[in-house]
Order: sequence, then structure tokens, then C-alpha cells
Amino acid sequence: MAKTRVMIKVSGEAFAGENGMGINPSVVKKIAKELKDAYEIGTYEIGVIVGGGNIFRGKQASEMGIERSSADYMGMIGTIVNALALQNSLESYGVNTRVMTSLNIPQVAEPYIRRKALSHFEKGRVVIFGGGTGNPYFSTDTTAALRAAELGAEMILMAKNGTDGVYDKDPRKNVDAKRFKELTHKEILEKRLHVMDSTAAALCLDNKIKIYVFDLNVEGNIKNALLGKSIGTLINNDKE
Ligand code: UDP
Repeated sequence: MAKTRVMIKVSGEAFAGENGMGINPSVVKKIAKELKDAYEIGTYEIGVIVGGGNIFRGKQASEMGIERSSADYMGMIGTIVNALALQNSLESYGVNTRVMTSLNIPQVAEPYIRRKALSHFEKGRVVIFGGGTGNPYFSTDTTAALRAAELGAEMILMAKNGTDGVYDKDPRKNVDAKRFKELTHKEILEKRLHVMDSTAAALCLDNKIKIYVFDLNVEGNIKNALLGKSIGTLINNDKE
């Protein structure tokens, strides 16, 4: 039976300790366990796109005086650090993985080559994508959309750090904020709902890639999202 390919976006923040910075190995281990459980469903090919906000955010650093492109390259290198941490934890659970990077560090990980990535999926490996798109001024959300489009993934799972979906207003400031069960891509763009950045959302719209937003911090949620349980907000074109 043909497997369904999905991309899972994990923000850098999710790798951090309590102060939001750096890497907390026990937290990374928990994420790896969640991914392993999802992988063991057996009917999905899984790509993971890791963020780097726990190490370096280019935009913020550029506001503090580092030239933007250099700052963004520093951010992209941060995502590779996270990718290696995740690979290590996943392999400790016996999951076969490959890290592919869009910035070349061949001593450390394979360079990203589309056809090679497809071959890893066919061999049942979880592919972790580090280095973002390899270009400054982009984000790892856009990387998830780009890799999903070119590798033919059906859905992006946006595993959020403490947010369980998309709301009509900020739930931390408004007690009456309502969570959407379903939305269309157009709605998130038009209403400027914060799901992913607009470049990423537009790519998903154009390529009909579903997005599922849910809270990574609830145990079993990656698996639950793949099993179609109603745990967050699904963004789909079908309603149009
Ligand atoms: N980045 C970039 N181009 C990309 C992806 C990432 O320049 O294609 C840089 C950017 O500086 C960003 C940082 O890497 O701030 C970390 O990525 P991101 O902010 O997307 O991570 P997350 O918020 O998911 O942890």
C-alpha cells in the first residue's frame, strides 16, 4: 500500500529549556518519542522541518545591529544544530533517520537533493531537514511549505509549542477567543490569522497542501493528528 507523505514542522522553541533558549536534551527526547510513535503507525512517510528560534532568530539579531543576511545564516546554522540533536534522539529509539541540509556541511550531514530525499522516504527513513531554505529572509515555515510542495507531501503538521490551534483572537488576552476547527487557506491569508508566515501560507494555498495546527506539548498529539483526531485546526482548500 502506498504511504502518505507528510511534513512535520517543529519550532526551535520546542527544543528549549524553560528560558526558551538552547537545547534541553530531555525535551528533545520527548519530541523524538512522539515522532517515533507517529512513525510506527506505519502508513506515513515522515519529513521533519526543524526551526531554530531557540538558538538564533535573524530578524531580532538584525535589529540589534548584525547585518540581516549574516544574521539569517546564523539562524539557519542553528536549525542544523537542532536537526542533529533530534536525529540523535530518534536514533536512540531505533528510528532510521537522515539529516539533509540546504547549506552544505558534508562532514556532518547530507546536502539536500530532492531525488535523494525521495529515495530515503521510499526506504522508510525519517528525513530531518536542517538549514531552512538555505536563503536569508525566509523562515522554516516556508521551508516546510517548499519541501512539502516539491516532495509531494499531502499535509504539513504544524506542531506548536503550547498553542492548540488557530483562534479568532489571541486566547492569552481574550477569554472568549474561539478556536476554529477548520479554515481555508484563503481565510488565513485574508483574516491574517497567525498560522505560519504569509509566504508559507501562500505556497500551501497554491499547491493545495493541508495544514494541521495543534499543540505538540500534549502527549500523543502527533500520532493523534495523523490519525485524524480533532485536536486542533485543519486548514484545507476543500470548502471552496
Ligand atoms: N532562516 C532563514 N532562512 C530560512 C529559514 C530560516 O534565514 O529559510 C533563519 C532566520 O533567521 C530565522 C532562523 O533561521 O529567524 C530560525 O528559523 P525560524 O525562525 O523559522 O525558526 P522557528 O521560529 O521555527 O524556531
